[in-house]
Order: sequence, then C-alpha cells, then structure tokens
Amino acid sequence: MKMEKELLSTQGRVPAVKSPGDPENARRINTALVLNSLRQEDLLSRVQIARRLRLSKMTVSAIVSDLISAEIVSEFGRGDAKETGGRRPILLTLDPASKFVVGVDIGTTNTVVAIGNLRGELVGKTRRPTTRNHAVEGIVEQVSSMLAETVGSAGVDGERILGIGLSVAGLVDRESGHILLSPDLNWHDVPIREILHAKTGREVVVDNCTRVMTLGERWYGGARNVRNLFYVNVGYGIGSAIIVNGEIYGRNSEFGHLFITQQPVRCDCGNLGCLEAVSSGQAIERMANEQLGTASQGWITVQQLAQLSRDGNATATSIFRNAGKYLGRAISVVANLYNPEKIILGGGVALAGDLLLDPLIEEYHRHVMSVIRDTTSIELSSLGIDAGVIGAAALALNSFVFQIEHINHLL
Ligand SMILES: [Zn+2]
Repeated sequence: MKMEKELLSTQGRVPAVKSPGDPENARRINTALVLNSLRQEDLLSRVQIARRLRLSKMTVSAIVSDLISAEIVSEFGRGDAKETGGRRPILLTLDPASKFVVGVDIGTTNTVVAIGNLRGELVGKTRRPTTRNHAVEGIVEQVSSMLAETVGSAGVDGERILGIGLSVAGLVDRESGHILLSPDLNWHDVPIREILHAKTGREVVVDNCTRVMTLGERWYGGARNVRNLFYVNVGYGIGSAIIVNGEIYGRNSEFGHLFITQQPVRCDCGNLGCLEAVSSGQAIERMANEQLGTASQGWITVQQLAQLSRDGNATATSIFRNAGKYLGRAISVVANLYNPEKIILGGGVALAGDLLLDPLIEEYHRHVMSVIRDTTSIELSSLGIDAGVIGAAALALNSFVFQIEHINHLL
C-alpha cells in the first residue's frame, strides 16, 4: 500500500488490478487510477480509460457510474468516432463544481489563499502582505480570515471543501506536519498542521514551497509530460526540487548553497561564496541598495530593480546579469550531473524574465556539455505569480482526492 501511495503521489503509474484477491481494495485502486487518468488528460471516454489502464470496459463503466453518482465525474460532450469505430463516445471530465480544496502559500512577503476545483483551476483568490513579524499565531489568524473571505467571495459551499494544502519555505516534516526550520519566517519546530487544523477545523497537508511548486508544474504547468525535471525556485532564497522518472524526489536538497564564487560574500548559512549569497532575491536587493544608494529613499525591491533595468539603468541590468550568470553556472553543474529533460525557473525573482534568463542561459551554455545541452530545455514557469498557490491546491487534491485511501470518503 505504501508503494502504491508513493507511485500515485505524482503520476498514478500503479498497474491496474485485474484479478483481485481483495475485490474492495482492487476497486479502490482502480477508482484512483481512473481519477488520475482524468486528471492527467482532462477529457477521456470510457473506452480510452479502459485502454489506458488495460481494464475491461465493464470494470471502467461500473467505476465511472459510481463517480458520476458521487458527482466527482461528469459527462462532457462527445469525442471522435475513430476511437470506437462507430458512435461518437461520450467524454468524461472531473466535475469542476462538485468538490473544492484550499491552497495556502505563506511567503516571506505575501500570503496567498485560493480555492481550487477538482481540475486545479482557481475559482477564488486573496493575496495579502504576510503579517510583518512572522509570528505563528498572527499568520494563522491571517490565513483563517483570508480563507473565510475567499470562500465567501468565490461563492463556494464550505461543505464541499475537502481540505487545505499548505506551502511554506523551509524544512518540512510531511509525516508529522511540522515545520522543522524556516529561516525565512524564523520558525523552529512549529506543528503547523495541528495549529491550522485547530483554527479552521479543516484537514491540512503541508510541504516545502519548492516541492509544492514542482508538483503544480508537474500537474498543471510546463512539466506535465516531463519525467525528469530540475526545478529552481528563485525567491527570497533559492530552492530546488528534482523529478526523477516521474516521481518528485523526496529528500531535501540545498542547491542554494552550492559553492559558486570566490567572491568573499557571506551566506546566511555561514559559508562564503554560496549561490544564494549572489543570486537570491535577498542578495539582489542587498546589492541593488548598496550600489544604487537608494537606502535613504526607501528599500528598492527586485520588482523595482527590474523596472529600472527596463528603463535603461545600467547598474540594475548588471545586477541581474551577475545573478543570472551564477545561476547558469550552478544549473550547468546539475545538468551535467543528471541530464534532466527540462529545467524550469520559478519564484518571485524569475518574474524578472529575460533580465535573469538571458545571462543565465549564456553562462549555462558555456559550461554544460553539448550532448546535454541538446536534450535539455530551460524555460520560465508558465504558472507565474500563482505558481505557489496552484501547487498548494495540487498538494491538497493529491492528498484528499487522488490517493487510494480517500476513495471511500469521496464515494
Ligand atoms: Zn549558504
């Protein structure tokens, strides 16, 4: 069962069960597989699902009929007659109005709360600056009131909400729901799942923000059909996540602390010359404020720096060039090491777009082996500013809908 859970966690590559020792269990596994097929493809006929899962049409029809009764799946138009050789088959889709989840993305600067439907589409969203001192109680209070407001404005029946997916920067113990350490928020061993559950009365699942963004990218973004991905989250700090053979690698990585420059810049971790000390949002803002001498007129942010660069400010452009160069160098190390099919760049700093990407790619090409360069693409996240909260909604859907053990609650 553990194996099945892990496999289903990102792709549902579990083989369908045909000759069950335990019919109830087989039915649950096959139902989860049908749901995951519809999640991956949006629209499928019963015949297409049966072929895809190598199940009989009768088995699939029985499962689909239960899912339709439970309003999880609905019929949606007709497909191509070529599939069946006769009548045009009825297409099925995950019902967008039946069940919902909440995505919560607690960032250092902004907190976002959104309601997502079964297809991962956001039907309501609230964004606010995160409470200033980052105290746990204050943030939980803020999330709870933003949640009530978002549910109200989206006009969603609270009874239909299955649970909350929470994305936070830092080291997360997913099993216990504790944030072990979040330097960005200055949190130490915070049992956030328990606290947020007590406050909202809802089930909560929590994971590290970069892993959450990677899941969002895998399900709804540029990594939908990518089985080997390196995802870089350039925000206040720098995080990364790895997908290997379709699965998000479960262990923590410290890409931001790769030694990348002889420059004597001190990183928050205590070491000299880390990537994060020269290419993170925090580092970019520090350099911008030092070099542009703007401290007296208020702190200059990455977004403002990007605007300055677009307006022709050479110092602003060189700060992005510098940050992009070191990112490109670090990414070339990873690409040479494990040759991913794709590299996606997300996070608040990546919103600077070409200002960061152009120097990054230039430096990356300088160092990556040509056999790897030719088979590995680099792009910016297509999910943009909502990447975190879309991922958080995917995390909740993954935990409360698409896992085998939740099937009984759904039906
Ligand atoms: Zn470091």
